[in-house]
Order: sequence, then structure tokens, then C-alpha cells
Amino acid sequence: MSLPSSLSVSETMKILVERRPVLEPVLRAFEPVIDAFGRLAGELAGPLAARGVAIPELDLEREAQGVSLLAGWDCAGTADALAQSAKGMLPLLVKTDALKKSAGALEDFFAGKPACGGERDAREALAQAVLSGDDDAVVAVAEKAGIDAEVLKFAGEMCLSPVLRAMVDGYVKAHDGKNPWDAGNRWQQGYCPVCGAFATIAWLARPSQEDNPFLQAGGGRRHLHCGACGADWLFKRIACPSCGSEDKGSSNIFKQSGTSWGERIDWCEKCKAYCPTIDFRESEHVLDLDALALGMMHLDMIAHDKQLKPLKVSFWNAL
Ligand SMILES: [Zn+2]
Ligand SMILES: [Zn+2]
Repeated sequence: MSLPSSLSVSETMKILVERRPVLEPVLRAFEPVIDAFGRLAGELAGPLAARGVAIPELDLEREAQGVSLLAGWDCAGTADALAQSAKGMLPLLVKTDALKKSAGALEDFFAGKPACGGERDAREALAQAVLSGDDDAVVAVAEKAGIDAEVLKFAGEMCLSPVLRAMVDGYVKAHDGKNPWDAGNRWQQGYCPVCGAFATIAWLARPSQEDNPFLQAGGGRRHLHCGACGADWLFKRIACPSCGSEDKGSSNIFKQSGTSWGERIDWCEKCKAYCPTIDFRESEHVLDLDALALGMMHLDMIAHDKQLKPLKVSFWNAL
């Protein structure tokens, strides 16, 4: 779900290229993929709703135990949507060396060929394996399909993302445009309340982005953003999203010297995990978060040199 009044992916990329011309080749290479997340999600919304595929209603008991909404979901009914998503996504992905040689096999797999009669749809089995982080199940699907497991897992994540995004968009719309998990700051995990993936980027709100009138004076509440399903959620300002530490002195920040545009890395002394963060109070624009996460890779490189580890490995580093 893109933030209200945020710039588009291409507008965000234009600004990022102006800021850091040296990153232009890599930004341009991934721009079509990031753009496809939202575009395909828009196309899939209708077909998914027609099949009755939707995020289940909140179960407060499960939520209090830190169980994400889609935990345990078998992805039933998503095969056609995954096929449609793959049609848009695979041509963008198979340009990379890692996927080039598997292009034909991946296209056949997501098109549902060869169909295995009577058995469970392999695409839905892959989606469930990816969603639940069950690598053994990914390997089992990959062996049957004759595709390298790492390659199939990556393609599965990328094709599932627009499906999940369509579901999140539909869910938030059905709740008057508000994230139900943010009411009363109930969800206090560094992983996503919807799909369970760790956040790819954090953002601090401008006063105008706060829906609570008491907070509109200062803004600055911290939200986490999921790059897998596009959900956003409120998170404690100080706690580490990886290990949960709130100890004094365990949270650190670094920025690039010179103009930072509100971009920074927040990292934890205790577990050495880091998360790219944008403080929108210091940023002229509300940028697209998925594009911005890519555009902050200069800070990822510094974090890597400092031997910090990302809260979530970005898809452009996955293979
Ligand atoms: Zn998610
Ligand atoms: Zn930590």
C-alpha cells in the first residue's frame, strides 16, 4: 500500500538518480520490477476478490501471540493470480544472469505446465512454502519441477509479492483506509503483521501523516514497511525490530555526511541488525518506500563495511 500522497516509483527514481547519479544503472535496472509490484497488484485485485481470496479478519488472541494474519494459510485459490503475476514479472527477472538459464522452465512452471493431475497445484504449494519460510518445502517443489531451488524460491517470492499487495490493499480499503493492526499500537513485532516478513525500511511520519490529532504537532512516530506485501505498521521509536532490545545505548544511527534528505541507517549494538530509515520530517517529498529502499543502497554498503546485517535481505541482493 503506498502512503497517501506519496510520489510514484518513477518520480521517486528520478529524484534518487539526481541525488546519486552513480547509482543510476542499478536504479534503472530494478525500476521496472519495483514498478511492477504495484501495477500487477492493481490488476490482480479484481480476480482475487472474485475468487474470494482475502486476508482473514483479525483474531486478537493470535495477534497478541505475535502470529501474523497469513500464518498457516495454504494459499488456496491463488494459482491463477500467480500465473498472471508471473506473466508480468518473469520477463523482467529473467534478464539477470542467475535466472536466464531457467527462463523457459520458470515460465512453464507458473503457467501450470505440466499439470499434475489430482495433486495439489505446485504454484500454490510454492507460494505457501515461500510465505511460511519453509525451505524444505521449496526444495520439494523445485525437485519435482526440475528447477534450482534458490532460483524457484526467488521467482516465487517475486511473483507472490503482487498477490499479497493486492490482498493488503483490499484489506486496508475495507477498513476505511486504516491499518487495523495499528489501533492501540497492538502489533509490536519487527516482522509484518500480515505476511510475517521482516521490514525492509522504516519511516518516521511527518505531522501531516499522523491520523491522531494529538500527534499532529510533532509527528515522528516510527512505522515499519514490508517489502513483501506492502503493509506498514507502527513500531516503538526506540526498540530494535530484530531483537526487541530497548536498552539505553543499544540503538544507533548513522547518516551520509553532507545532505542526508532524512535518509539514515538505524542499527542495534546488541544484535548488529540494521534497518534503512527515512525521516519524512526532513524530506521534501514522500517517496515511494520500495524504490527508496533500493535508492539507499549506498548506506547498505557502509553498513556492510561496519559488519552489520540487514534486518531483511533485499531482493536485489537475494541471488
Ligand atoms: Zn508483509
Ligand atoms: Zn537488536
